[in-house]
Amino acid sequence: MQGIMQNWPLTVDKVLEHAAQNHFDREIVTRSVEGPIVRTTYGELIGRAKQVSAALLDLGIGMGDRVATLAWNSALHMECWYGAMGIGAVLHTVNPRLHPDQIAWIANHAEDRILILDTSFVPLIEAAKDKFETIEKFVILTDPENMPETSFEAVSYELWIDGHRQDTAWGGFDENTACGLCYTSGTTGNPKGVLYSHRTNVLHTLITLAPDVMGIGARDVVLPVVPMFHANAWGLAFSCPAVGAKMVMPGAQMDGASIYQLLSEEKVTVTAAVPTVWLMLLNYLQENKLDLPHLNKVIIGGSAVPERILRTFEVDYGVDVVHAWGMTETSPLGTLGALLPKDADADIDTRITQKLKQGRPPFGVELKVVDDEGNTLPRDAKTSGRLMIRGAAIASGYFKGDGGDVLDDEGFFDTGDVANLCPWGTMQITDRAKDVIKSGGEWISSIDLENIAVGHPKVANAAAIGIYHPKWDERPLLVVQPAPGETPTKEEILAQLEGKIAKWWTPDDVAFVDEIPLGATGKINKMKLRDMFKDYTLPTA
Ligand code: AMP
Repeated sequence: MQGIMQNWPLTVDKVLEHAAQNHFDREIVTRSVEGPIVRTTYGELIGRAKQVSAALLDLGIGMGDRVATLAWNSALHMECWYGAMGIGAVLHTVNPRLHPDQIAWIANHAEDRILILDTSFVPLIEAAKDKFETIEKFVILTDPENMPETSFEAVSYELWIDGHRQDTAWGGFDENTACGLCYTSGTTGNPKGVLYSHRTNVLHTLITLAPDVMGIGARDVVLPVVPMFHANAWGLAFSCPAVGAKMVMPGAQMDGASIYQLLSEEKVTVTAAVPTVWLMLLNYLQENKLDLPHLNKVIIGGSAVPERILRTFEVDYGVDVVHAWGMTETSPLGTLGALLPKDADADIDTRITQKLKQGRPPFGVELKVVDDEGNTLPRDAKTSGRLMIRGAAIASGYFKGDGGDVLDDEGFFDTGDVANLCPWGTMQITDRAKDVIKSGGEWISSIDLENIAVGHPKVANAAAIGIYHPKWDERPLLVVQPAPGETPTKEEILAQLEGKIAKWWTPDDVAFVDEIPLGATGKINKMKLRDMFKDYTLPTA
């Protein structure tokens, strides 16, 4: 027997329709790429987003077609999101921190038909333009007066949407329709595409709104520093309009002074970013003896929150820190650290100890830790194993089937993180099984560094590992085993990498060893290597 209730498809266009109807005068404030602060409202934004839809339809873009963006957080970027998603196209956020060759590879793999970019990213496209195989049109997010010179054919965004109707119909398709695409290099091999559906994005939005998750409301002013191109800005471009929160978008500037200016002038109450951003802000506050009178909550994730950041926010500034863990594959929120009643009134050190853990799963997320044979391990806050996740907004595979079958017999996805769980579900990451380095919240592929390094004739074997860095959390150290009879220099090795990787991927140091430790199957034993270099300090630290 079926229930007798309305079938209201969970599609994201409804989020902005809701905001436009009920919170039409609530602002979205952006530090524009051109410099000035610009203001719009949900009421205005929806009309322009529908112009984007009309302009896309005009180009023959329809259900399932991929529309890519290479853009900072801004109201314009929001218009593109909703404009594409509203007509059933797939909005593909591309990470501009990648090397131009990787960007082209991803765009070709995704078969993007349109690429909408900020003026800041014109040089990236200049470098990759001959490699794009499927892009029919480049749109630059600016007006005709500010259009940059380009050697590829491009149209100004304002010109492109101008004259199009503001009432394009949205929705009306199945809630399982694909909605967003985001590639992650957080696993081995080529980047893999995570393909969100309307239903999972809406369910994730509902999950984020719970008080112990992000808990935002209509009276909040939210500054998502976390980029829309990396794991959906942790869902905030959906959660804010869903409740009518004011949004403050940082554009291209995420240094301490710029973020402080927005926090104070716009009276931001909730903000979210990776630890590196908060380190820059806290240094700026301390150097200039400034305060944070409006800020209530800061959500920190992407890598583990260092104790200094946690303590300074909580003790010196009276700001509630919510430590969050998640992945591109988990939409992305997986666990958050709002305190349980048993810890809420404890002394500050107990509360800090709790908050340094990665948090607990909200309703809609299930976790388990397993051993190498897949047996579930006890939730005793001690026993570590592979962290597995299942839930309402978790990937069940990758775009085009890459990576094969990724779920276990019980439908859990392997996160590649190593963690323990306490009886109340609080999760603590203790290691990483996947072979990547996370620097300032973004991935560096150790495998890419290694493959290029072993291409040098003086190198027998090479392995890249993440070493603790006070600002970036981790930075790469390249460990090299010279070829017999050879004595390569650090400069020779770094020259081998130059131009083949994004500049910020360059290892902070190169160490030479007689022998790189291998495991039973002949693969590099990274655990052992990390242990060998556990006391190593980078020259940049
Ligand atoms: P991404 O898909 O780029 O968002 O990266 C997800 C990965 O970042 C996770 O699998 C973890 O390895 C790491 N990560 C995210 N949040 C945290 C956190 N709070 N503590 C430690 N590692 C984290």
